[in-house]
Amino acid sequence: MISGATRLAAVIGHPIRHSLSPAILNAAFAEAGLDWVFVACDVADGDGAAAVAAMRTLGLGGLSVTMPHKAAVRAAVDEVTAGAEALGAVNCVSWRGDRLVGDSTDGAGFVAALAEDPGLDVAGLRCVLVGAGGAGLSVARALGEAGAADVAVVNRSPAPAIRAAALAGPAGRVGSAADVAGADLIVNATSLGMGLAPDEPLPVDPAALHAGQVVADLVYHPLVTPLLAAAAARGARPVGGLGMLVHQAALAFARWTGQEAPVAAMTAAAREALAARGAAG
Ligand code: NAP
Repeated sequence: MISGATRLAAVIGHPIRHSLSPAILNAAFAEAGLDWVFVACDVADGDGAAAVAAMRTLGLGGLSVTMPHKAAVRAAVDEVTAGAEALGAVNCVSWRGDRLVGDSTDGAGFVAALAEDPGLDVAGLRCVLVGAGGAGLSVARALGEAGAADVAVVNRSPAPAIRAAALAGPAGRVGSAADVAGADLIVNATSLGMGLAPDEPLPVDPAALHAGQVVADLVYHPLVTPLLAAAAARGARPVGGLGMLVHQAALAFARWTGQEAPVAAMTAAAREALAARGAAG
């Protein structure tokens, strides 16, 4: 029951009505027995800083941030973490005393998801990261931070690949399709697999995939992308993008409430919300 004491948290973006965050975070608050509610707010491009001001005025307990506001919010908060500074983007705002702190939790969410299922520690692994948009940059940095031995970034446009490789630190380099066969972990951070265009190619040549590899797709709708199906057919271990989505929300939950997130309930809620939309898998 919503009362005068209920805390409010929100996600801002545009468009935002298809966000899974309300399903995931309201399930988390319910499971944890917290008197919190999470809503999605459609905020027009250019109004990200105003939304941060509203967070202060309204006393929101937490704010998630998605496109197109990640850079504007980074400029509007009081402090940013080293990760958000390096990426120039904020996807999570929380309170430290009376100051607002911006963080970037996508990359850490990806690494945490791999650690949970299939129990993969990326330290020492040879990784190929295909795609270097906003999500790819955060994954590149997180792989480097987590101690990957090699982070070869492959991207259609050269400049983002160079930036992602630099974010991965000493392990980072610009790679090529030839790196895929020798990799332990292959990550698709392109939007290929969402079915946005007819006859989309796969992000990597499936002939280079084999048993012993983990193939992770950041795309979570559909749950089983053509890349994941091809990876499984070649004997590699497929990992879908839902775990990353849940774990970045779990990191936000922990920052906002000071409690450990109920990841299993959040995953179940995410799957249910996706199933309601007809995502197979
Ligand atoms: P973005 O900033 O728009 O970047 C898109 C990336 O895909 C770029 O590297 C782009 O290459 C590449 N790309 C797009 N079309 C391509 C094509 N036809 N051929 C080759 N490369 C192509 O998007 P984003 O925010 O990084 O998101 C990327 C994907 O990750 C999306 O599917 C998104 O849904 C997913 N994602 C998942 C999570 C999660 O929690 N699981 C979180 C964030 C994002 P260029 O640089 O050459 O344009």
